[in-house]
Amino acid sequence: MTTADSRAERAARARVAATRIEAEGVDGVVLGWVDNAGVGRVKAVPVRQLEHAAAWGVGASPCFDHFLVDDGMAPGGGPLGDLRLVPDLAALTRLAAQPGWAWAPVDRYAQDGTPHPGCQRLFARRMVEAVEQRGLSVRAGIEVEWVVNGGGEGPAYGMRRLIGSSDYLRDVLRALHEQHLDVLQLHPEYTTGQFEVSVAAAGPLRAADDALLVRHTVQAVSARHGLDASFAPAVAPGGVGNGAHLHLSLWRDGHNLGHGGLGPHGLTREAEAFLAGVLAELPALLALGAPSVASYLRLVPGRWSGPYRCWGLENREAALRLITGSTGEQANAEVKCFDGAANPYLAVGGVLAAGLAGLDGALRLPPEVPDDPTGSTAVERLPDSLDQAVKAFRGSEVLRAALGEELHAAVLAVREAEIALFAGRTDEEIIDATRRRY
Ligand code: GLU
Ligand code: MG
Repeated sequence: MTTADSRAERAARARVAATRIEAEGVDGVVLGWVDNAGVGRVKAVPVRQLEHAAAWGVGASPCFDHFLVDDGMAPGGGPLGDLRLVPDLAALTRLAAQPGWAWAPVDRYAQDGTPHPGCQRLFARRMVEAVEQRGLSVRAGIEVEWVVNGGGEGPAYGMRRLIGSSDYLRDVLRALHEQHLDVLQLHPEYTTGQFEVSVAAAGPLRAADDALLVRHTVQAVSARHGLDASFAPAVAPGGVGNGAHLHLSLWRDGHNLGHGGLGPHGLTREAEAFLAGVLAELPALLALGAPSVASYLRLVPGRWSGPYRCWGLENREAALRLITGSTGEQANAEVKCFDGAANPYLAVGGVLAAGLAGLDGALRLPPEVPDDPTGSTAVERLPDSLDQAVKAFRGSEVLRAALGEELHAAVLAVREAEIALFAGRTDEEIIDATRRRY
């Protein structure tokens, strides 16, 4: 089902879903979205209100479009107006680590039932539809890295780390599995207390929903273990950060267009054009995928965060890492420069928009960077501050047209207000102010 279904259809489906989850012990349903600052916000309803919520939506102020990471508000946000949060019941999930609770992502509509132009999830949905209109589809997956505030000492990727966090990580796996998230991998990441989990690729909207649900689930399991999980881009000055790398592949008629073609490493011309479009817009896309002032404490050379505007086969310092995989059908590209502060709907939708612009322009990729670009002056750095990324975003006609004036302006207002908020603050102060927000 989609939220585009009629009110009566949504109510009928919600009635069935509510009966089922109530029998499974659910009392409350969390209605979740992510604001332009990248912060997950929620309202909740008792399970008996789900039918009403699905039919009519739940009221929420439009001021959330201008909310900042510290709960302040950018100019443009205020006390007036109302929107309706309409849960997408296709994604309704019983929360394994929060007994008695279920969760559904929402789309945001105006009171008259028209789509809210500032809704990030509806934006992502529009971009998915634009891809489909060309007879194409995209498979996507977002890796989730996080750092917990206790334990997790030991070597990077170390068995000592996995043993030390054995029960915790088992509970993460178990909860994700119970929620029908298909985990591909889990490992202790580079720095103390850091872990990573990846789930199977899916359609882009589902991939964004999954990324959100994975984060919520990790947070809930962490809380049950007395831990606080942070998905923030930077957690310690000078240390590696948390990425939210976005993998994607382009498909037509069941074939992955990332292999068997005439482009570099077997890319078809369509896949090459799509990726070239992403690379062309990458400085502007950072305003969506690396959206915090703190993002630029992470996005520095030598941390495998992809701070160079280039692409390369299995090059983990390139912003765009090409992966051919052991079979052609596994071929995909990884946008490495994105981080855990990103609203996954904006990140995914923005990348699709850029890729479509690449297809429209039949763009070709620039020469590959096969070596480690660290320290090379020949390879362009991506913006090294939010300010620089915002300049590119302001000038991006591709992203402005795709997002629409209202959403583009709201994102700009939030970015500019957060730049002002953190002006003159030290790295430690920026990390302190953001670490527990994402
Ligand atoms: N933690 C690194 C980042 O900030 C990524 C490490 C890796 O998985 O390659 O993106
Ligand atoms: Mg990683």
